[in-house]
Amino acid sequence: MIGGGIVGLSVALFAAREGLAVALIDPRPFGSASTARSGALIRTHYDSEVEARLALAGLTLFESFSELIGGESPFTPTGFAYVPTVEEVVDGRFRARVAMLAGCGIDTEILDAAGLSEIDLNLDISDVGVVAYEPRSGFADPALTTAGLAAAARRAGTQLRLGVAATGLIESGGRVIGADTTAGPVFAGAVCVCAGVRSRALCAGVGLDLPLTPTVIALLTVPRAVPGHLSVIDAAGGIYFRPDPPQQTIVGRRAFDDVVLDAPDDEPEPPDWSFMDAALPALQRRLPSAIGAPVIARRAGQLDMTPDGRPLLGPTALPGLWLSCGWSGTGFKTGPSAGQQLARWLVTGSAPDRDLEAFCIERVPEPARGPRSPH
Ligand SMILES: Cc1cc2nc3c(=O)[nH]c(=O)nc-3n(C[C@H](O)[C@H](O)[C@H](O)COP(=O)(O)OP(=O)(O)OC[C@H]3O[C@@H](n4cnc5c(N)ncnc54)[C@H](O)[C@@H]3O)c2cc1C
Repeated sequence: MIGGGIVGLSVALFAAREGLAVALIDPRPFGSASTARSGALIRTHYDSEVEARLALAGLTLFESFSELIGGESPFTPTGFAYVPTVEEVVDGRFRARVAMLAGCGIDTEILDAAGLSEIDLNLDISDVGVVAYEPRSGFADPALTTAGLAAAARRAGTQLRLGVAATGLIESGGRVIGADTTAGPVFAGAVCVCAGVRSRALCAGVGLDLPLTPTVIALLTVPRAVPGHLSVIDAAGGIYFRPDPPQQTIVGRRAFDDVVLDAPDDEPEPPDWSFMDAALPALQRRLPSAIGAPVIARRAGQLDMTPDGRPLLGPTALPGLWLSCGWSGTGFKTGPSAGQQLARWLVTGSAPDRDLEAFCIERVPEPARGPRSPH
């Protein structure tokens, strides 16, 4: 396993539990890249069934983290609301999607303003009038999640090698048989690249051009004037926000097309913070108790965006080379459940949820494996 963020640690854990001999390398502390900077919303509102099922499996793992993975639970179930755009309400997409999600076994329902006020009096949805509510969803603490996964992977027998970077993949006889690393070559029956935005450079060495574009997104923190509120994706307002301990709210913008990077960057900064500051009026519109709240912290992280916003998951045309990258800003909630799926896939040759096989890199047409198109 190359990369020890939430994605690589999860694959390593579940692969070791499948009985595979696993080594994981990372030059940096585990979970210190995108995983550490994540908003870490855990929700199941997706527009595709396969991603919704993966998110539901992820939510279930987070809900029972201590029993299923071990350690202190990182999960806070705040409840979640998706605020649709007026267009998707009017054209029927919103209701159809919520019905699809309920059909996947997701606990979700449409609430009007009166229904929502029985759950959360803090949100103003007078412009749209409805939300999709998920009582089980919430957010997780990235540091606790990483610590729990790393400890569980170690207990399951994974060799965790911190301070070791892969410098290239080793190919022989048309298959990938290992990786060159800063600590010498490592040979393996399968190599799984989970290196986030740096996966592209690693795979380029064996002629595989991953369609990954490093993109910066950022979060602002404001003090919270109310005891709590739901975690929210506000499609109408173009933001997402959630409560953050001890007494804060963090908010991000859903659009980030302006801040595409030329190359991966460990400490990304949006070129212009005023892009983010536009999130504040939208937050105050939806959460009036935030009116007048100052920005007390900002953090940015980078995403490994694919052209369709879907991950690159599973085997590649090069035998021995597997991918779990390109999570495009949604890989926290699904990290553990995707790790479980990929581990089974490594052992049996097929994913337990066969629909996930549609996420193999072969789905991306050749010309699109270059610069990113709008997501
Ligand atoms: C601001 C922000 C908000 C987000 N909000 C959400 C959200 O609300 N919900 C959600 O589900 N997702 C969210 N995401 C996305 C989510 O955090 C990521 O999809 C997820 O953390 C990706 O995990 P990862 O393990 O693939 O990548 P990373 O955490 O980046 O880990 C990759 C690892 O690979 C290592 N690596 C790199 N190169 C090498 C090499 N050559 N050799 C060995 N190791 C290497 C790195 O050191 C790093 O530790 C957000 C992301 C950001 C930045």
